[in-house]
Amino acid sequence: MNYNIFSTEYGVYLIDVKLIKKSDSKFIKEIIEYGKKFFGDDVEKIKACIQCGTCTGGCPSARRTAWRTRMLFRKCQMGMKDEALSGEELWDCTTCYTCQERCVRGIPTTDLVRIIRNLAFAEGKGIQKAHIFVATLLPRFGHAVPINDETKEVRKEVGLGELPPTVHSYPEGLKEINKIMEETGFDKKVKKLQEEGENK
Ligand code: SF4
Ligand code: SF4
Repeated sequence: MNYNIFSTEYGVYLIDVKLIKKSDSKFIKEIIEYGKKFFGDDVEKIKACIQCGTCTGGCPSARRTAWRTRMLFRKCQMGMKDEALSGEELWDCTTCYTCQERCVRGIPTTDLVRIIRNLAFAEGKGIQKAHIFVATLLPRFGHAVPINDETKEVRKEVGLGELPPTVHSYPEGLKEINKIMEETGFDKKVKKLQEEGENK
């Protein structure tokens, strides 16, 4: 068998070359083309994932759910679009950025999860009911997670103002948020997903 040796600060890895060569799927091209618009050329590094598992090993969500960052990237490399977009676990990533800080190949992992979620959302796949509910809060509050009394208290305790400098402090911004949602079709999409969920 033909192996490549990768030496990093975390250790030495032997990677089957055949696995790396297969990372040129149509789906991965779609991810890169779409993702570059928002996160720049770095997203192309998804092709360089060597499946070392460092991302999954440090992922706080993976300790409690079926979510596996490494597995998602492998599915993408293999062109398994439907499997990558359909899994409800895709929505279990908390976007904490731990994996992005630790990736041994410098892959913008969390940015890629966000890109792949956008593609899933566009196709109406795999989204959990809880996330659809959160999306319905945006047009009402300008926040996916509106502030509550408990958080206000914590902010005061650490010397911050009661309200963050967001729509909570500038309610006039809510109109702009709704305009963005209207122009991007986000509001219609959320409504449709909500109706589909209710009819299941
Ligand atoms: S840490 Fe980076 S290279 Fe390793 S499996 Fe995760 S994404 Fe791939
Ligand atoms: S950003 Fe998501 S995938 Fe990465 S470590 Fe945090 S929860 Fe896990």
